[in-house]
Amino acid sequence: MLNNIEKLRQEIDRIDDQIVELLIDRKTQSDGIIKQKVNAQIPIYDSDRELDILNRLKTKFHDRIDSFQIEHIFGDILFYSKIDYFKFSGLQNLSLEKILANTPFIIAGPCTVENQEQIESVAQKLSNLGIRLLRGGAFKPRTSPMSFQGLENEGIRLLKETALKYDMFVVSEFTDSEQLEKHYDEVDIIQIGSRNMTSSGFLKQVGKRTSKDKKPIILKRGFASTINEFLLASQYIINEGNPNVMLCLRGIRSFEQIESELRYTPDLASIVELKRNSPLKVIFDPSHATGKASYVYPVSKAALELGADGLMIECHVNPEESVSDSSQTISPQELERILKLLIR
Ligand code: PEP
Ligand code: MN
Repeated sequence: MLNNIEKLRQEIDRIDDQIVELLIDRKTQSDGIIKQKVNAQIPIYDSDRELDILNRLKTKFHDRIDSFQIEHIFGDILFYSKIDYFKFSGLQNLSLEKILANTPFIIAGPCTVENQEQIESVAQKLSNLGIRLLRGGAFKPRTSPMSFQGLENEGIRLLKETALKYDMFVVSEFTDSEQLEKHYDEVDIIQIGSRNMTSSGFLKQVGKRTSKDKKPIILKRGFASTINEFLLASQYIINEGNPNVMLCLRGIRSFEQIESELRYTPDLASIVELKRNSPLKVIFDPSHATGKASYVYPVSKAALELGADGLMIECHVNPEESVSDSSQTISPQELERILKLLIR
């Protein structure tokens, strides 16, 4: 009997060699297509074509192999065939509206705008990855008044200037209505931070100010707020005439902060809860939710699996030199590695 197993194993090894040879051949063919698409500046990812490939195989072999197995095995083959490229390539020249419709979208950038060189170096790397949404804090809602509060007006100016240079859109937080008025035209997506989610007066002011142009707003969940309070906060903005609100989960406070290194507790199941109970886009911020750079990948993976429409990730060319939130900040190289693994 052992002899027989040995024989079968030899046969399996032979077939495995053939499979790998065929995978290499397949990759060569698909690389040819990808190159042409890159030259023509059209998106590499074509969901209709991928669906056709799976359906054709499932129909042809349905009585010999389970459709579920085809889907899994070929899902991985299709993913690895484009792993060297991004789903984002080809997003140049798209409007903000189109970029936000191309889910999952990625917002990335430093916790805080520090100086011209810092924001420019990270923006350049991010735009090379095809990322069009540049975040950066200028008015920082720091827990301690002794901490660096951001470059304020100068921070917004640097952010806008850099975004224009690299054809990106600005995502930044305002903490009061004076900033909102003064810098309205320089910020493309207005962020309302976790600490301000419960400021109903400010929510109304932002809703009113954006009611004409319906500028997108990212509302971050208060870290001690229930889902219902979060949804009601979004309603304050919507009721003033701007339905263009995105809900951002960024971790909540719990007992885990007592004896673990987690800065907050990633509120992952809330993605499912919000997607079921609200028509709004839901995005996840793995950086603040965990406070740890090495957790950004696994938590982002879970968030996308659970249906998040986008991710907001803190990124800096030298994470360890970041003036704020350095322990949760990743480099553009790390972001590239993560996105290649995550974005199918
Ligand atoms: C931020 O994203 O810059 C930020 C301060 O996050 P939060 O409001 O979630 O703490
Ligand atoms: Mn931060």
